[in-house]
Amino acid sequence: ILSKRLAQVAAFVPKYARLADIGSDHAYLPIYLVANKSINYAVAGEIAQGPLKAASKQIKRYGYTNEIIPRLADGLMAIQPEDRIDTVVIAGMGGILTTTILTKGKEEGRLTKEQRLILQPNNHEQSVRHWLATQHYKIYEEQIVEEHGKFYEIIVAYYKTDCHYTKKEIYFGPVLIQQKNLAFKKKWQKELQTKQKVLSNLQNARTAQKSKIEEVQQQIAWIKEVLK
Ligand code: SAM
Repeated sequence: ILSKRLAQVAAFVPKYARLADIGSDHAYLPIYLVANKSINYAVAGEIAQGPLKAASKQIKRYGYTNEIIPRLADGLMAIQPEDRIDTVVIAGMGGILTTTILTKGKEEGRLTKEQRLILQPNNHEQSVRHWLATQHYKIYEEQIVEEHGKFYEIIVAYYKTDCHYTKKEIYFGPVLIQQKNLAFKKKWQKELQTKQKVLSNLQNARTAQKSKIEEVQQQIAWIKEVLK
């Protein structure tokens, strides 16, 4: 059984996708998808020996050695042309690392315009959305889930020229801001309190930059507006 977070990632994987799960760790995601007859081909990429071993062990235990290929590789270097990967998952890593992996993957020719991206950064979601926007990806779906008091955003994107996002959409998520589910409201209520503390600290600090204060004031105004 998957965590709520990974179950939401799994829900965005299309049936019969050819999946690359980058940073697969125990390969729980591809194992779950194969067990549910949702997919029958996946590469489980890992940069570290320990997690790769854990993945191989689990794959063998479930008898999915024909369906799931564990590979030791940095980021999207796990993908080979003959895999015909159409769906790339990068879940459970920091947002900055996620964008670094995507940028390198593009440079190395492993990221193609046909692949669907399913990203679940543990932080810096805005940096991930900013990367997608500047690289001409359209965000088709998003979801936010709360698990053990933490909020996780899942972003689904495809390459598509001519789509533009406002700063506010990058900040909150273009789909999330439309849906405003309970987890979204809780996240931003919490964030509002944090920002208000940050602002008062900045205002009390003699060395604080005016532009920084204005930035936080702008964010507070946005958050209040979306929570209305
Ligand atoms: N994807 C799983 C999930 O969401 O539960 C596991 C997340 S685990 C916290 C992150 C994994 O990413 C670790 O096993 C780590 O070794 C791997 N990792 C970190 N950087 C990587 C990279 N550049 N390429 C491939 N895997 C990487």
